[in-house]
Amino acid sequence: MLNVDEHLARLRRSSPGQDEFYQAVEEVLTSLQPLFESDPRYLRESVIERLIEPEKQLIFRVAWQDDEGRVRVNKGYRVQFNSALGPYKGGLRFHPTVNGGVIKFLGFEQIFKNALTGLPLGGGKGGSDFDPKGHSRSEIMRFCQAFMTALYDHIGPTTDVPAGDIGVGGREIGFLYGQYRRLSGRFDGAMTGKSFAWGGSLVRPEATGYGLVYFTEKMLAERNDAFAGKTCLVSGAGNVALHTLEKLVELGARPITCSDSTGALIHEKGLDVALLKTIKEERRERLDRYLDTHTDAVFIPMADYEPGRSPVWACSGEVAFPCATQNELGLEDARALIANGVLAVSEGANMPCTADAVDELLHAGVLYGPGKAANAGGVAVSQLEMQQNAAMASWAADKVDERLRLIMRDIHQRACDASKEFGEPGNLMLGANIAGFRRVANAMIEQGVF
Ligand code: NDP
Repeated sequence: MLNVDEHLARLRRSSPGQDEFYQAVEEVLTSLQPLFESDPRYLRESVIERLIEPEKQLIFRVAWQDDEGRVRVNKGYRVQFNSALGPYKGGLRFHPTVNGGVIKFLGFEQIFKNALTGLPLGGGKGGSDFDPKGHSRSEIMRFCQAFMTALYDHIGPTTDVPAGDIGVGGREIGFLYGQYRRLSGRFDGAMTGKSFAWGGSLVRPEATGYGLVYFTEKMLAERNDAFAGKTCLVSGAGNVALHTLEKLVELGARPITCSDSTGALIHEKGLDVALLKTIKEERRERLDRYLDTHTDAVFIPMADYEPGRSPVWACSGEVAFPCATQNELGLEDARALIANGVLAVSEGANMPCTADAVDELLHAGVLYGPGKAANAGGVAVSQLEMQQNAAMASWAADKVDERLRLIMRDIHQRACDASKEFGEPGNLMLGANIAGFRRVANAMIEQGVF
């Protein structure tokens, strides 16, 4: 019998103050109970004890000079969590809320997400408490160069392959990769999310959002349903949210909301996604600039609502996609969505729904797509980028998109099959956790104790 409380108590003692990490561990361990009951090997081999302790953790100083010549100092992290299935793989997040616990929660989730793709990928994550917002291009470049100076010796195409996440987009990947190349003297696949002009893959920028929609399409198909004509609610306005919106419109759905760190935008007629991309991607402006063109839309500034209670979840919609950040959709939000007739909630962000919100959704019979399955399209196409780099090749967009579709179909199938095998058909959280865990745990056992 797996004693979840005992593991959590030990974790709290050995790694204090890491709430997001405990939350992620608790969710996974709770779902694994039925597997542990059916197969005693996992307990005997102490797989949980080994899995929750990262193989390696790097914490480093990042000192850089601002435009006035003042020296600034940030903290850098890279957690190399588990490499039983392949090189460590996971993004870098630059955001003021980054700390050791956040990076560990993200790295832990990444192990199972990467295992679920069926590809040879281990799990890792990194980042810094540096906030690119409000800094000039040259300050961001100097920060990225200082960050990579500390990290370059620990990464490589067969050891650890970082990519982007919140605050790390194409611009930051460019500066990071440039510094990697300068220091290592190598042009290789040590990072993904690179520009197509110098080693990137087509469809990588779109992959997480598109993959999320492909995955959710499969969830709806299980109930003989589809996206056409559905009203959708999306949060966030970054990489994942914008490409989710784009694919939803392509499939005939009507997304009516998105949000950023300044507030929430609601446009009942259906969002103008091309305009949103211009505002957020090209011009890097605030979301309320949308109202300059669409006066019938509504923008609610964040200062006008209770912290953590986004008006997005109070809207009426059939499918909801939290695509901003962790714990952005709580119990009351889940209740509001259910009251408004939501059919499915599918996670673009990592752990955006709190544990009690997930319980509430599952209880109400709402289809729930856990992030570690639903948002795995980004890492999957990153692996396709690694394949292209290793072969010095670049594939056509159609080929990458088709592979992405198949990978998302297979992830959905694996989660479905495991949910059926363990007596809770349709519980994709249980299915994803068990299927991901089983693949990595079996690899660890087969490779011996270390
Ligand atoms: P971005 O930095 O591109 O976008 C994040 C967006 O969320 C921004 O628009 C930001 O606002 C907004 N945001 C941040 N905090 C809040 C908040 N409290 N309320 C409302 N909006 C908020 O990041 P990504 O799109 O890449 O990542 C989003 C999520 O998806 C993260 O959880 C990430 O870990 C996850 N993810 C990303 C993958 C990827 O390939 N990029 C892969 C798998 C998961 P503003 O524009 O004002 O900064």
